[in-house]
Amino acid sequence: MLRELLQAVIPTTCACCGEVLVAGERQVCISCLSALAATGYSPMDNNLIERRLIGRVPYVAASSLYHFRKGDTTRRLIHAMKYHDGTELCYMMGRQLGLDLAASGRFDDVEILIPVPLHWLRWLERGYNQSEIISQGISDVMHRPVVTNVLVRHRYTRKQSLRGSAERGINVEGAFRVRKPSLIEGKHVLLVDDVLTTGATIAACADALEGVDGLKISVATLAAAD
Ligand SMILES: [Zn+2]
Repeated sequence: MLRELLQAVIPTTCACCGEVLVAGERQVCISCLSALAATGYSPMDNNLIERRLIGRVPYVAASSLYHFRKGDTTRRLIHAMKYHDGTELCYMMGRQLGLDLAASGRFDDVEILIPVPLHWLRWLERGYNQSEIISQGISDVMHRPVVTNVLVRHRYTRKQSLRGSAERGINVEGAFRVRKPSLIEGKHVLLVDDVLTTGATIAACADALEGVDGLKISVATLAAAD
């Protein structure tokens, strides 16, 4: 009720286009939601994401929900998730990703969700890890626990968006470490991130996880650059 009252006084606007939201709309307006271009990758073996990661990440299955292109709605959405206290938006989009993964049937064996971690300095700056909140949204749909104390980011890296793609791999290589590997031994984990570009970040996470006994890895991101 308080939300409705507030909305009447200060109208909330769409995180993507800035238009005033109408009744029934949350965070993003219907027209922006329908403008998000879904990839359809989740049920597909050997989809573009899997081909991008092949030989670098020993995945069971990998997928991204939306295309991420220059100037499009998805790009504005991802920006809003990171820079405008986008926690509710992250959670909502995480649920969308969870519904997509669950419907595909290819991620049914996943037991644990592991968000790509932020360095603690970046966490302090933003106040939350967008990938962790996306994971909580997935968890709400798929009922798998989110584990954040095993994979850690021990090196502070410059913002990926400011760097060329050739540099990204070097930038993030060796940035992650595993603590308490016994918590995930023999498990099938889903690595979760907001955007996949070259796949360097996911590959660096997989490198760090390599020594964990009997671990199986799948990958899901909300969006992927074409
Ligand atoms: Zn909109």
